[in-house]
Amino acid sequence: MTEEPLANPHFWTEVVVTTPAHSGLGPTLGYWSERPLAPGTLVRVPLGTREVLGMVWDAPAEPPSPELEALARPVQQVLHELAPLDQRWRQLVAFAARYYQRSLGEMALAALPPQLRELNSEQLQRRLKKRKAVETHATALPQGPALSPEQAEALGKLEQTSKPVLLFGATGSGKTEVYLRAVQDMLARDPQAQALVMVPEINLTPQLEARFAERFPAGSVVSLHSGLTPAQRLGNWLSAHLGQARIVLGTRMAVLASLPRLRLIVVDEEHDPSYKSQEGARYSARDLAVYRAHLGADDGPCQVLLGSATPSLESWYAAQQGRYLRLTMPQRVGGGAWPRLRLVDMNHQPKHTVLAPALIQAMADRAARGEQSMVLLNRRGYAPVLACHDCGWKSNCPHCSAHTVFHKIDRTLRCHHCGHTTRVPRACPECGNLDITPMGRGTEQIEEQLAGLLADARRPDGSPVRVARIDADTTRAKGSLESRLADMHAGEVDVLVGTQMIAKGHDFRRITLVASVNTDSGLFASDYRAPERLFSLLLQAAGRAGRDAAFVAEQGSSVELWVQTWYPQHPLFAALAKHDYPTFAEQQLSEREAAQMPPYAYQALVRAEARTQEAAQALLTLAAQASDGLPGREQLTLYPAVPMAIQRVANVERAQMLVESTSRPALQAFLAAWQDTLHSLRGLPETRGVIRWAIDVDPLTI
Ligand code: ADP
Ligand code: ZN
Ligand code: ZN
Repeated sequence: MTEEPLANPHFWTEVVVTTPAHSGLGPTLGYWSERPLAPGTLVRVPLGTREVLGMVWDAPAEPPSPELEALARPVQQVLHELAPLDQRWRQLVAFAARYYQRSLGEMALAALPPQLRELNSEQLQRRLKKRKAVETHATALPQGPALSPEQAEALGKLEQTSKPVLLFGATGSGKTEVYLRAVQDMLARDPQAQALVMVPEINLTPQLEARFAERFPAGSVVSLHSGLTPAQRLGNWLSAHLGQARIVLGTRMAVLASLPRLRLIVVDEEHDPSYKSQEGARYSARDLAVYRAHLGADDGPCQVLLGSATPSLESWYAAQQGRYLRLTMPQRVGGGAWPRLRLVDMNHQPKHTVLAPALIQAMADRAARGEQSMVLLNRRGYAPVLACHDCGWKSNCPHCSAHTVFHKIDRTLRCHHCGHTTRVPRACPECGNLDITPMGRGTEQIEEQLAGLLADARRPDGSPVRVARIDADTTRAKGSLESRLADMHAGEVDVLVGTQMIAKGHDFRRITLVASVNTDSGLFASDYRAPERLFSLLLQAAGRAGRDAAFVAEQGSSVELWVQTWYPQHPLFAALAKHDYPTFAEQQLSEREAAQMPPYAYQALVRAEARTQEAAQALLTLAAQASDGLPGREQLTLYPAVPMAIQRVANVERAQMLVESTSRPALQAFLAAWQDTLHSLRGLPETRGVIRWAIDVDPLTI
């Protein structure tokens, strides 16, 4: 680059920074720079009295108006060391900001590793030097097993299509092997290419990382998720950005990584709700992955592969319409039998049964033969609430419209929404009754009952049966999840009890029985996606059983999925028994079509938070009234404002309004224009006490 003459050292530069939502500032801010700066360059710029990280954005060479020109200040520092983020990355961020109704600066800067915000030019230079030292040696690496015919066919078709691919494969059908092979093939064709592989949960990354690390050269695989230290995250992000890492494994945040040579994106368990962010910009990493692939790469297309045993109805529908290519792998590798469904009719059990005697017996029999069982709890939300049977008192949170949950370990009552904690009272605070007891069954209680009911059961060596629990509570401490999983893999544990955390992904080898014990809440929930989630959870949990066909054959055991329910006639169970996701999906889709719900309609939810419920609802109601004439309005339905299911959290009242349309462009155009309306209503007497509001596009729960 030639030196610019000093006589004219002023170049108009537009920069995105993290500006507060609705600050009234535009999407970009204008600055002066001594040199022309390429879009995507990181800079440090003054903002008010602070100096913040910003990114040069695509902009005209001239200031848009004399007023802005007069206001502009100089760029403080240019982080020259780092190559600018490329055009496709900027397109992705711009799309995400627009689609999810957030500011460009928020979207762009939140996608960067947080530590980048604190580093000056010299510190960054040191980090980059360190990275250069990482050499990747190609050594002889294992190529993996010979492919099954289904896997080979899927890979063959994958290579021939440019559409997004939906890999509909049973759990244990060898989808991960297909991902590994697809990446290998891609790197064989183009050694400089990059792949992004996403999983829904942090705790699934270590095992996936291990599988990739053994197949690819050291240093070529990095991970990106929130469990990394800030320094690790920056280091891994840099290797991806510099093109050193060939493969990035990560959770939803990884979809926003800078990957200049990206040619393949894998979204494993694509139906998983964790791909939808529940804070800030509420983006769907799965949907952004499809968009990102659509942008392609410099030297060819970029492919996206969505894998699941129970695809989301959105993806299933897209495949039906021919927008995605569906590839099917119904067989489990090694011909492992599918677990047989055993429905336990709770109507016919002894009174107050929590765990059916036949189920306990079946688990004891298995433990005696050296087999493992898994007890699935349909989420921790159904945790024990203390109640008084004399006066009807229940342990409520004083700040939230929610019950507090009884935690036996430290004898506390905790609110799972705001965290409010009190000691368990000795007697009912209302009537003084000493006999207050937990209602419902939480994870701790089922574990405790289970241990009691299995007290006489023995392992093959005659020692007592061991029960372990895995859920968010027991695995808070660092390393505790890993050690519990290791115990399970090593056969130290006979019965594993846990929430959905244990249902996903884990390759347990000795489980022959999986039981769901509090199933029904998923059947009749108010959330229309609940049956879809329940089906997927049960099928995925069932997939943890019988993974080692040789072990099962040797044991002579039958592999079983036990489901306790009060509603054994529900059609969901008929499809589950046949392991028939397509029939279940058709049934759900026809219901959705009749009701004009997603994927046949598009939704957005506007949530308002305020000191009073009236103010929160008033903001939404007034905004709806003021929406006539906005673009897209005639194609939209605006529903009344309602309190949210959890109406109050930490003394803040919450309300929501659903906006729906069969036209996505109409919904998008409307939301973009409606933001200003909502903003302009703050400061009215009716909306006093409104704290914030936010739009959730394609919400997962309503
Ligand atoms: P999924 O991701 O569909 O649940 P995996 O890819 O984890 O399935 O495969 C299940 C098991 O089968 C794993 O232990 C894996 O190593 C093994 N496996 C996968 N493909 C093959 C193959 N072609 N030959 C032998 N074993 C395989
Ligand atoms: Zn009482
Ligand atoms: Zn609370």
